[in-house]
Amino acid sequence: MRKLDKNLTETLRKTKYFLLDLDGTLYLENKPIGDMKNTLKFLRDKGKKLIYLTNNSSKGAHTYVEKLKNIGFYEEGDLVYSSGVATIEYLNRYYKGKSVCLLGTESYRQEMINGGINVVDGDRADVAVLSYDTELSYEKLCNFVRAIHFGATYIATHPDVNCPAEDVYLPDAGSFIKMIETALGYTPKVVIGKPNNIMGENLKAKFSENDDFSFMMVGDRLYTDIAFGKNCNFPTMLVLSGETTEDMIPSAEKQPDFILESFNDVKNYF
Ligand SMILES: [Mg+2]
Repeated sequence: MRKLDKNLTETLRKTKYFLLDLDGTLYLENKPIGDMKNTLKFLRDKGKKLIYLTNNSSKGAHTYVEKLKNIGFYEEGDLVYSSGVATIEYLNRYYKGKSVCLLGTESYRQEMINGGINVVDGDRADVAVLSYDTELSYEKLCNFVRAIHFGATYIATHPDVNCPAEDVYLPDAGSFIKMIETALGYTPKVVIGKPNNIMGENLKAKFSENDDFSFMMVGDRLYTDIAFGKNCNFPTMLVLSGETTEDMIPSAEKQPDFILESFNDVKNYF
């Protein structure tokens, strides 16, 4: 374990909302990291609110609630906040009532409709939203680029190029963005998910918080999680339980404020 950092204790005292990355931070390939269930309980008992933050927009947020319940993490009062949900909020704020052509799964399409978005079939729409479509077909892809060609504003839910699966990495939304750019030169006007600050701004508005120190971003990726926290001016905690190894830290553009081997160690700083 690292030397106790008094500054972290002080920052934790001010933190009301923990923004928690999932894979590599709380679990690895669906297996909880250490005694994470009790670490999360410890934080709830301290009066902290837990917000599970994921860039993955392939499923509706309710699917994550179920998944997190199944591994014993999610409790009443916790929140799952995905780039998909953030995109719906963004559309309702800036493109209210506009028609949307979605490149996405049926689960996400349903979440959009439930969120009041006017999702249309066909290739004429005001906005074209690219998400992590694990049900992608060539027909859907062609329809989507036609919508952009005919003038739809192009928005993407998140930029990740790959997604960890059981034993390999699989192409994620960022790869679809690159494919469309390579083929036609179109790039999104806005990308909602980490590392961009939109999810952070939405959460500040949702909880009517003006103090950036009310939030702490915890994650295992320097270029998404830590960069996101920095872009939002939130304190950041890097955990070395996932993708990042110690030797990768010095060259990162955005440096974490705190580094722990595992998020379970956070209990030692209260
Ligand atoms: Mg992660």
